[in-house]
Amino acid sequence: MSTLVEDLRTARRRFSVEFSPAHDEETAARQWRSVQRLRELGPLFASVTYGAGGGDREGTVELASRIAREGGVRPLAHLTAVGQSTQQLRGVLRELAAGGVRDVLALRGDPDGDPDAPWEPHPQGLQHADQLVRLAREEGAESVGVAAFPLGHPESPDLDTDLRHLLGKLAAGAGFAIAQLTYDVEDFLRLRDRLAAVGCEAPLVPGLLPVTSPKVLEVTRRLTHGHEPSWLNRRLQPLLDDRGAFREEGVRLAAEDGRRLLAEGVQVLHLYSLNASSNVVRLVEELGLAAPAAQRPAAG
Ligand code: FAD
Repeated sequence: MSTLVEDLRTARRRFSVEFSPAHDEETAARQWRSVQRLRELGPLFASVTYGAGGGDREGTVELASRIAREGGVRPLAHLTAVGQSTQQLRGVLRELAAGGVRDVLALRGDPDGDPDAPWEPHPQGLQHADQLVRLAREEGAESVGVAAFPLGHPESPDLDTDLRHLLGKLAAGAGFAIAQLTYDVEDFLRLRDRLAAVGCEAPLVPGLLPVTSPKVLEVTRRLTHGHEPSWLNRRLQPLLDDRGAFREEGVRLAAEDGRRLLAEGVQVLHLYSLNASSNVVRLVEELGLAAPAAQRPAAG
């Protein structure tokens, strides 16, 4: 079986999808139905985020292992260095491996409680994601991915420094990167150009989150640290009181971004599911991202 990095290199018009551990049974049930529905469309991988709290951490291992066991999709487990010693992180990596999860997205994470507070590593833990990349590889992870920031990570003094650290993570053994969400496709393309200019050929996957409600808009605002184009407000602001129209416009905007990325030669789009499948299915269908029938898993 090919590795995730190999698949990312050879993929043509495909998608991956992101889930987060569910906190209640109803969400868990909806989430699992979404995994099953999306499996039929053949995502390259399904990633599972890693939360700050203990329950979320167990939830990540549990959900990623279940996807490996019964999901019919390759899981990618996110893992952060927040609040855990190196030994504890090794423990999580071993649990993931025992659960059949071979691929990891190695992240530093942000301080528990306040993501904008100054970063404090665990006293026996790791300072940066490159160290977690090495740890994951030492523990036998097959493909390791890292985070990339089209606008630069907020703690980076400038884009050159940010790029150097991204290259450091790739040199440490990561084989691909997933880019932080941005509202503007151009931001992503500029990062891709910066990597190409230094000869880096590692796959860089853009994230796409349909802004389908004012709540989702708040989440993306936090992630993009206020870098919000004026057209976004122009298109969504008038629809704040009409949930249906807001949702439609949000999916339309994401589809427009997706089309632009594909036209620029991007081959894999990482779609945020928010633990439901309907918006992802629409985007996959509108953008033609389903796997060819021969590459889809058998029904089960
Ligand atoms: P790092 O790569 O360590 O970078 C942090 C800062 O340190 C940057 O400014 C960087 O330039 C600098 N730096 C990096 N390496 C070095 C070095 N060797 N020496 C000096 N400076 C260095 N968070 C979660 O809690 N759970 C998740 O599931 C999650 N998933 C994410 C998925 C994606 C695709 C992205 C883009 C982010 C995700 N995050 C998640 C958020 C992420 O944890 C934060 O953005 C965090 O602030 C940075 O993580 P990092 O892995 O990029 O850290």
